[in-house]
Parts: sequence; structure tokens; C-alpha cells
Amino acid sequence: MRRSRKCSRCGLRFPRSHSRCDHCADLTDAEVAALKTRLQDDGTSYHTLGRYLYAAAVLCVLLIVLALL
Ligand SMILES: [Zn+2]
Repeated sequence: MRRSRKCSRCGLRFPRSHSRCDHCADLTDAEVAALKTRLQDDGTSYHTLGRYLYAAAVLCVLLIVLALL
């Protein structure tokens, strides 16, 4: 059983033994909103990285095919 719970304010996990969320207890509402936006941006950049890797893989296959011709 995991000893953490999800914060309803910022969406991050923090230890159940803490009465307040580690991540947003000291932040204002605006700072929490900025934190959430930053977390979403991280997800987007990860998605973009995945597309780069996919493009690189396709490029490698094309180069191999051209080398075999
Ligand atoms: Zn929080």
C-alpha cells in the first residue's frame, strides 16, 4: 500500500503523513496554476521528443533501404 495521496489542488502526490501538500501548500492560487501549466508543458515536450524519435527511426529505415538499392 502506497503511503501517498494525490493533492486535489495541484494534482501531485505527497506523503499521507503530511497534513499539507509538499508542492502547493506554500503557493498562491496563481502559482499553483503556473505549476500545473509547467507540468502540462513537460508532457507536451515529452510528446514532441517521441515524435522526433519516430522521425529519426523512419529516417534510418529510409537510409537502409536506399543503401540496399
Ligand atoms: Zn498540492
